[in-house]
Amino acid sequence: PSIVDRLSAPHRGPVPFSVEFFPPRDDEGEMRLWRAVRVFERLGPAFVSMTYGAGGSTRDRTVRITGELAEQTTLLPVAHLTAVNHSIDELRALVGSYADRGITNILALRGDPPGDPLGEWHAHPEGVEYAQELVRLIDELGDFHVGVASFPEGHHRARDLDHDTETLVGKLRAGAEYSITQMFFDVEHYLRLRDRLAAADPEQAAKPLIPGIMPITSLASVRRMVELSNSVIPPSVDARLAAAAGPGDEEDRAAVRAVGIDLATEMAERLIAEGAPCLHFCSLNFAKATSEVLQRLGVDVSAAVPVATPS
Ligand code: FAD
Repeated sequence: PSIVDRLSAPHRGPVPFSVEFFPPRDDEGEMRLWRAVRVFERLGPAFVSMTYGAGGSTRDRTVRITGELAEQTTLLPVAHLTAVNHSIDELRALVGSYADRGITNILALRGDPPGDPLGEWHAHPEGVEYAQELVRLIDELGDFHVGVASFPEGHHRARDLDHDTETLVGKLRAGAEYSITQMFFDVEHYLRLRDRLAAADPEQAAKPLIPGIMPITSLASVRRMVELSNSVIPPSVDARLAAAAGPGDEEDRAAVRAVGIDLATEMAERLIAEGAPCLHFCSLNFAKATSEVLQRLGVDVSAAVPVATPS
């Protein structure tokens, strides 16, 4: 099934939700991921997605685990794929290997320069320059359902917000069926992107614009992530988190987490009221914080208590 089909299928709670995972670095991380996967399986996300890294071994893990998600769980996986350091032939081969494992949902991304996400971008000499070309490439290869990235606060390389909107419209016109936004902490940014998209191309604006939400569990790490992504933590939100973190060098993690769950729930409620088609949770491979937000939104999470740790 496609993501668009999944979003219109019956779902628990007030709105469909989805979950983003990243490839774990070691065996312990992989066990943690599988524990989260088994919890989410019982919560019925519309889909789950697995990010794609820059190095060979993390890439291999993304491909392997996405295949396992397709073959060994009830979840619908979306494979992220980036153009970084790949020739067109390699991209074709990767898409083919996903198809062999029954994976037809792919998130087409350009990716960031390895090492320094804000550094200079160089396309592979036999690769693609922009995500839009990757969308076309995947579409040409068969019966795939392609999604793309969108940026409520504008991509850091876009000249301005209008250029950023044009890029998104271009990717949707090229065949992308939906977009998932970069995480943000002010719902206004999402609403303004939706308005810009509607003004630029009403037909493409009808495609799902799925907001990315991260329940914050650490102030230090969210500040770092935001720095790397051209988004901002609104001062009022930062102040709430900083007050919870306390004055010392060691932040009060439990207090920050509690505020983080409140914030994510408030954002989710507003997004639901505004008609967002799905909530995409950046889980960081943990199920607990996202489950708590879902519970607060009225999703019955009682079935989600893990019965056993999978081997
Ligand atoms: P593009 O759409 O190609 O845009 C890149 C830049 O080029 C933009 O500034 C755009 O305005 C500009 N541009 C596009 N087309 C043109 C044109 N024709 N002429 C001039 N300028 C143009 N990164 C990973 O490495 N792995 C992941 O798994 C991953 N997952 C992500 C998931 C989501 C939901 C999001 C939002 C981002 C993700 N990223 C991931 C990060 C992403 O790869 C970077 O933000 C990257 O810098 C932009 O990717 P893009 O696909 O939006 O690129």
